[in-house]
Amino acid sequence: MTPELMMGVMWLMPPAALWLSGPTRAWGGWACSAATALVWLAGLFLVPGAERLRWAAAGASSLGACLWAGIVVQRNAGEAVRLSEALAQRRATAAALTKGLAAAKSRSKDVEVEQREVHALYGMVKGMAEVMTWDGVRPKLEAAVEQYLRVEEFAVYVVEQKASDAMRLLARRRLSGSPGATWDTLSRWMQENAVAMTVARVVDKPERAVAVPIFESEKLIGYFYARIPREADAEAMLMRAQTFVEEISFAFRRIKLFQEVEKFSLVDGLTGAYRRRVLDERLAEEVVRAQTFKTTFCLMLLDIDKFKNLNDSYGHQFGDEVLSRVGEILRGSVYETDFVARYGGEEFAILLPRAEPAGVLRKAEALRKAIETASFELAMQRVSVTISLGIAHYPRDGAAADAIVRQADRALYHAKDTGRNRVVDVAEIPRKA
Ligand code: GH3
Ligand code: MG
Ligand code: MG
Repeated sequence: MTPELMMGVMWLMPPAALWLSGPTRAWGGWACSAATALVWLAGLFLVPGAERLRWAAAGASSLGACLWAGIVVQRNAGEAVRLSEALAQRRATAAALTKGLAAAKSRSKDVEVEQREVHALYGMVKGMAEVMTWDGVRPKLEAAVEQYLRVEEFAVYVVEQKASDAMRLLARRRLSGSPGATWDTLSRWMQENAVAMTVARVVDKPERAVAVPIFESEKLIGYFYARIPREADAEAMLMRAQTFVEEISFAFRRIKLFQEVEKFSLVDGLTGAYRRRVLDERLAEEVVRAQTFKTTFCLMLLDIDKFKNLNDSYGHQFGDEVLSRVGEILRGSVYETDFVARYGGEEFAILLPRAEPAGVLRKAEALRKAIETASFELAMQRVSVTISLGIAHYPRDGAAADAIVRQADRALYHAKDTGRNRVVDVAEIPRKA
């Protein structure tokens, strides 16, 4: 090796030491230091005398530089390792946080959907609790099943008031050919398959369905059956159906309680008028009173015209509102001593003690007009409602309560036959009619 080449190698050593040792490999510094020392020592012998001093100085500075690189890297290696570890850890933490954030976002979306559904269910159940009749609850129930459970083939049964082992259909959508289509087929299917009526379950045969009993205070008050698609998650569906059924059971219980209370009350809940049975008692009393004191009384029977059409065109609920309003108008238009009763579905009776025929006709005409001009509205649309009235007087038209009722009824039907929205006193009917 020529001295020039050795000099070149030695000058290359410090940059090589720097390059090899960074940032934590102190051995690079030590290896270059060793190589430099070897070349330097060899040079001390090989380099001619005149050059030797320059060689010794250059070698010493190269060796010093390599050693310095080793020392510095050795001293800082620990710190560099720590820093790079910390950096890796931070990166891992950041990645975990990003993952967690994404999971939280999707979870919060799920919670949001769930919350929205629970909210919707709450609204529906609240709507159901506002109605007091099975007819009124039916459309709300059907909408709730479709919106909350998202099933389109279902039936809801409720126990009969009298026989507690039989249930009657409350609401049904489709379900033709299914065991759930009628209570007969459903209860027979349960018996044949040894299925307990009191346990909620997923049904697999002959179709995929969920069957859930409806309880209120541990009493079986109804049954819910829904056909579900083959691919649906049946267990999840069953859980939702159970939640749903728990919520609606309160509304059902309220209706049952209301009906029980109503049975004992004297006044009809919808119209505020007395019940038929109270009217019958009152009529019997009135006959006795009139006989005893030789006084008179009048019975008016009135019936809403074409009420069936009204129900069919605007819905049963609107029909109920009309009935309630008519009851209110009638009660508000008579004297304290007069007695307003709901005689049948959309028929009313008014008992007017000590009334004379001309005055009764005027009163009846005023009632007819009051209903005709009252505003019944549905969605901003004015719906016209009229009534027909029949009048009979005691003792003019009969000597007993049932005879008076018959005569008032005859007058009412004469009013219907002769055009409706009319008042007819039975005495006006020509003999042969
Ligand atoms: P008409 O002029 O001859 O009296 O015709 P109409 O349609 O009123 O006669 P009909 O007696 O055939 O119909 C009475 C209808 O009243 C049938 C029934 O559905 C309805 N109805 C009876 N009770 C109620 C009730 O409580 N609420 C509602 N919404 N409808 C009732
Ligand atoms: Mg009618
Ligand atoms: Mg009628």
